[in-house]
Amino acid sequence: MGSFKLDFQDTATAFSDLDDRELKEKYRLFKLLNSPLLNSVGTWSAKFALSVGLPVEGLIKRTIFEQFCGGETIEECEPTVERLAKAGIGSILDYSIEGKSSEQDFDRTKDEIIRTVERAKNDPRIPFAVFKVTGIAPLGTLERLSNKKKLDAKSQSKCEHLQARVNEICEFAHKVGQPIFIDAEETWIQDAIDRLATDMMERYNLEGPIVYNTLQMYRTDRLQHLKDARRQAKADGYVYAAKFVRGAYMEKERERAMELGYASPIQSDKRATDRDYNAAIDHCLEHLDDVSFVAATHNEASTQYLAKRMDEMGLAPNHPRIHFSQLYGMGDNLSYVLGRHGYNVSKYVPYGPVKDVVPYLVRRAEENSSAAGQISRELEMLGREKSRRKST
Ligand SMILES: Cc1cc2nc3c(=O)[nH]c(=O)nc-3n(C[C@H](O)[C@H](O)[C@H](O)COP(=O)(O)OP(=O)(O)OC[C@H]3O[C@@H](n4cnc5c(N)ncnc54)[C@H](O)[C@@H]3O)c2cc1C
Repeated sequence: MGSFKLDFQDTATAFSDLDDRELKEKYRLFKLLNSPLLNSVGTWSAKFALSVGLPVEGLIKRTIFEQFCGGETIEECEPTVERLAKAGIGSILDYSIEGKSSEQDFDRTKDEIIRTVERAKNDPRIPFAVFKVTGIAPLGTLERLSNKKKLDAKSQSKCEHLQARVNEICEFAHKVGQPIFIDAEETWIQDAIDRLATDMMERYNLEGPIVYNTLQMYRTDRLQHLKDARRQAKADGYVYAAKFVRGAYMEKERERAMELGYASPIQSDKRATDRDYNAAIDHCLEHLDDVSFVAATHNEASTQYLAKRMDEMGLAPNHPRIHFSQLYGMGDNLSYVLGRHGYNVSKYVPYGPVKDVVPYLVRRAEENSSAAGQISRELEMLGREKSRRKST
């Protein structure tokens, strides 16, 4: 039992879905993304070209879009959903458009999210739906709500629309029995998101986990938040459901705290983030009767840690309250190995019109080009798989 270990360096399994040509293409793209200069020139040119209407959509679609997105529409994602399902991996259709600001746009996005719930229902290949509150609400309203500022009549009305949209999505998810994640965002709007998520869990998690909030463990206050929220849910008689991430907005958070002169909400170093991430997993494992959770991460150590603890506790890999998740195009060494061993694992499959998805793609590229970034790890594995295939 003590020697339990999944082999996340098994590149043959990780890239089993790619033929030699696809492997080479992916390697080439990741090499480009891994070069800080080419990466920044590339992402800047893509944003610029799209903003002035240059015909680069086709090029983007054939390259980076194909690696990280399932398609432009729900229907276009079908081959990806099917391919992942064959490897024992679920799909989470993530409508990834950003930067919209009118009430009509928010309504349209809400309708599309409901379509993803509709598409997922009764399809075991799509275990979760997901949405970002900023996709259906103005930032200003979320910020005012988070600051508990008194709202004027106009903001009050926007706030009511926002609550109605979130409720419509979650009510529908509950009606059709489709679990759904609410993504976590920046601290200055997250209080409002947390309150909405809690409200939805109170209503819709009475019989089981439907609505999942997201906790970013790079925040110093999240472990305590988890403990308090779980205790409260138990007292109120509903299942607490959470997706754990480390957090995607570290630089932005630190810069803003510095600029406005408040204490940074982010852990002092990576070790503290890693420690709290695993502590959150431990807390949930100790209270499995009251919670359902998702380890959403590309971190091999945390993934190994959870699998090992499950083994020690004698829990089946497909325990219904424990899930793993990665993003499409990344962390395949985790997803495919977990899938092969029968764990509940799924990948976000982002989709949407190419030009609307570009901010998501740019974030992936920028997030990953940092020294200890995911891309260099992916590149190393792709290189190893190329050599392995040559030598066999
Ligand atoms: C399925 C899925 C869903 C996601 N949903 C969300 C979401 O809703 N909201 C969101 O914000 N992000 C989300 N993310 C992104 C996530 O927060 C991370 O940015 C990303 O996954 C990288 O972290 P990691 O756990 O994979 O591993 P690692 O690569 O081991 O960790 C990198 C992360 O550690 C933290 N970190 C790095 N350096 C330091 C430091 N010096 N001090 C303190 N902390 C540090 C940062 O959070 C950084 O992103 C999601 C990721 C996945 C896979």
